[in-house]
Amino acid sequence: MQEIRRKTLSHVKLVVVKIGSAVLTESGQLNLTFFSRFAAEIAELREQGYSFIIVTSGAVAAGFEALGFSAPPLTIPEKQACAAIGQLRLMRQYETEFIEHGVAVAQVLLTADDIRNRRRYLNARNTLKVLLDNEILPLVNENDTVVVREIKFGDNDNLAALLTSLAEVDLLLLLTDLDGVYDCNPRDSGTASLISLVGEVDDEITAFACVGKSETGTGGMLSKIEAARKTAAYGIPTVIANGRRPGVMARVLAAEDEGTIFLPGSNRLSCRQHWLAFAVEPKGGLYLDRGAVKALLERGTSLLPKGVVRVEGDFGVGDPVSCFDPEGVEIARGLTAYSAADVKKIAGLHSREIVKCLGYDAGADVIHRDNLARL
Ligand code: GLU
Repeated sequence: MQEIRRKTLSHVKLVVVKIGSAVLTESGQLNLTFFSRFAAEIAELREQGYSFIIVTSGAVAAGFEALGFSAPPLTIPEKQACAAIGQLRLMRQYETEFIEHGVAVAQVLLTADDIRNRRRYLNARNTLKVLLDNEILPLVNENDTVVVREIKFGDNDNLAALLTSLAEVDLLLLLTDLDGVYDCNPRDSGTASLISLVGEVDDEITAFACVGKSETGTGGMLSKIEAARKTAAYGIPTVIANGRRPGVMARVLAAEDEGTIFLPGSNRLSCRQHWLAFAVEPKGGLYLDRGAVKALLERGTSLLPKGVVRVEGDFGVGDPVSCFDPEGVEIARGLTAYSAADVKKIAGLHSREIVKCLGYDAGADVIHRDNLARL
């Protein structure tokens, strides 16, 4: 087991560390002890050659007392107002602590909409690159004041998972207030045992995750496991560990048996495919025949009109669409070269018949393999 960890973590240089609200705050206040320890540990690891992007929660949790709430608020506008207050406090605290160690920090606020939009995605990527090249520590959070449910990441675990490919990092480290993933709820059961290594995220591990939701955080273990699954698809590992334990990051990076490690998947998606698979919102669906599914999954081919059986939704040229197998399971996502109306006309035809049918030809493929991500 140790050997697998060592091998998996041996090339790690750039790490996304996501810190949950439960680690950062204590009864509605920022946990100041955590901040000073965290800054010292990150500074020390940077000295050793590691680089970091921090995804930090805690804005809502740090802001609600100032608005006179005794518990975190429930309505979205109230949460947003709390985040507006708390974000400032959060950043001030990070800056104060990191300055002690000569580390300059930068605030990066993102929404899921920013990541979906390829241009803004690339802008965010360029900004992070310049910050990292200049040894500035990016502190990322969701731009809570402007998001509603439809355009939310869901939680910062998901945001952190999407950043792995955006910033081309080597490891996702999720710090929470539990030691990792357990085989049953450690808060209810004295016999719960920690799962040290997960080879692949499957139904069994997801079932374990339904337990152990922290009271302060938003995502719980399920969203962490989902983040680990997305990260594995980019071909890098995730570790879930207890951020309240001093020295936890150094031990994880030294490949010690700390927290739960999720191994990278064997088929690494490119950055662009990872973005296609997990950041974009499909505008429609294409149902494929068995031959097309086989060709796509086993040979990594493009999708030809011949393999399309049914079209769902109203999408235009260049829009993201889902591809489904005959059982209705989503097997891939991609950017379509033809609109929904035109795919309906050419579905089932041979590519050479496209011109005759449509009066124009935008290429032989409905989705070219460069624009396709297998799920
Ligand atoms: N953006 C939220 C905050 O700063 C946290 C969201 C999350 O933890 O998933 O309070």
